[in-house]
Amino acid sequence: MEPMEVGVFLCSTGIYDPLKAIGKLKELGIRSCQLPPLGEEWLSPEKAEVIKKALAEAGIEPTTQFVGFDDESYASMAAVEETVGFLSEARRPARIELTKKIIDFAAIVGAPAVAAHIGFVPEDASDPRYVQLIETVRELCDACAARGLKFSMETGQETAEDMREFITTVNRPNLGVNFDPANMILYGKDRPIEAVGILAPWIVSVHCKDGTWPTAEGMLGSETPLGEGQVDIPAFIAKLKEIGYTGPLTIEREAGDDRIGDITRGKALLESLR
Ligand code: MG
Repeated sequence: MEPMEVGVFLCSTGIYDPLKAIGKLKELGIRSCQLPPLGEEWLSPEKAEVIKKALAEAGIEPTTQFVGFDDESYASMAAVEETVGFLSEARRPARIELTKKIIDFAAIVGAPAVAAHIGFVPEDASDPRYVQLIETVRELCDACAARGLKFSMETGQETAEDMREFITTVNRPNLGVNFDPANMILYGKDRPIEAVGILAPWIVSVHCKDGTWPTAEGMLGSETPLGEGQVDIPAFIAKLKEIGYTGPLTIEREAGDDRIGDITRGKALLESLR
């Protein structure tokens, strides 16, 4: 991979079957990808070898394996708080166990990092869920470290300052950040270009995604094709260069009905800016 190689989050192709999605990325000339949460039917060592072989044959390097859960909802801020990540005490034990399976899968596939939306970090550090989330992230970092992997938190569900505080408190050398500039805007949390500066020491990967600020109380903003939202993608790439980031620029596109077209145009835009 070259510095700032343009990659794609595999699920952004809109193709559910990972093997077919890998074939599509090869067709598009993509050489770097992040792997999405896969169904439990994929989480065996044998299936991990199948994915690893398909990626190698396509000449595509896996850079991150994402964690996600079936019953998560991003429909509103309240739904995110209730269902996403490790905040819910009732859901947490089973989700930690599943994440450990995903970590084992990632190690076999050859992805150097595992990333997750851990859920809204409570703004008040005296909230009992804050300490529970700290303990959970330490446990997942340690499980990753045992396999030689990094663990990355996806940005956007808290301010950059709050995330920095949280990361410092977790205090694990293999904890990093998957920086998604659009999430900062979609959740109405922070200005993404300044946030890159605040989180610079921990950024191990990025999502190239765009979007607009929320317009209704309690709701998320809207995702747009790359370059058409309020992130300011040229400024984002310039800021990444300024902090010395050389990792992949991974396109994420979770909305719209022309995913492949949006990825192709996004790739051209990023190649003109990097
Ligand atoms: Mg993202």
